[in-house]
Amino acid sequence: LLEVQHIEKRFGATQVLTDISFSLEKGQALSIIGSSGSGKTTLLRCLNFLEKPDHGSISVGGELLFNAADPQTQLENEIRKKRLHFGLVFQSFNLFPQYTALKNVTLARELQAKERGGESHRDIESAGRELLAQMGLADRADHYPHQLSGGQQQRVAIARALALHPDILCFDEPTSALDPELTGEVLKVIRSLAEQKTTMIIVTHEMSFARDVADQVIFMDGGVIVEQGDPREVIDHPKEERTRQFLARYA
Ligand code: ATP
Repeated sequence: LLEVQHIEKRFGATQVLTDISFSLEKGQALSIIGSSGSGKTTLLRCLNFLEKPDHGSISVGGELLFNAADPQTQLENEIRKKRLHFGLVFQSFNLFPQYTALKNVTLARELQAKERGGESHRDIESAGRELLAQMGLADRADHYPHQLSGGQQQRVAIARALALHPDILCFDEPTSALDPELTGEVLKVIRSLAEQKTTMIIVTHEMSFARDVADQVIFMDGGVIVEQGDPREVIDHPKEERTRQFLARYA
């Protein structure tokens, strides 16, 4: 489904990503692990076109979405449409504080329906309620973000990302802003999405979660992929010294 080839990204003189290539099949989950500053967030931002890679290409479902060498793939008014292939869940939830949980989930779809016609307000709302129910939040639809716990807010953010039916759902350290007792409820939701074969990329520091939920793991260090493959290989039997050193800190 996703094909990433030879991505490079520099900020000024700092090379942040070097020759990043990987692919992801439909229904698979990929975990990206690595220490702080290794380039994980920048990679996710490149995939979502929030950063423009200096080199490389990104394709989804056989469609070339971005090629650094081809300006035709970088037209501003196309980028918004291309972004819809990806859903993004941030570390810090980023909900709209002035809207209820339900409106946070339905807002983008309401805007889409307004622009293009199609779905009725009622259908969008009932789809939104269903997504919230799936996240275990059926009774929180009319609450505002400040009335929700961090774990609940993050689950609203996941429902919001799913509302636009992305091909690939991307998580950037979805639990690192949460107290340990709230982490479990968010991981449980992501786990159930994996069981439903949602295609996902998960940047995480939760090693046992990365191993259990992912079909594939990438370990990054210093902007390069040091090791990638089956989680039982990469996490349980790392080949590279750098991977071993990193994992030793989580043992
Ligand atoms: P963390 O786990 O702490 O989020 P990370 O692996 O996600 O780390 P990135 O946030 O991608 O790492 O950062 C990689 C490197 O790129 C860091 O050295 C960071 O300082 C640098 N960097 C990121 N964004 C910018 C920017 N907009 N301008 C300049 N440097 C940047």
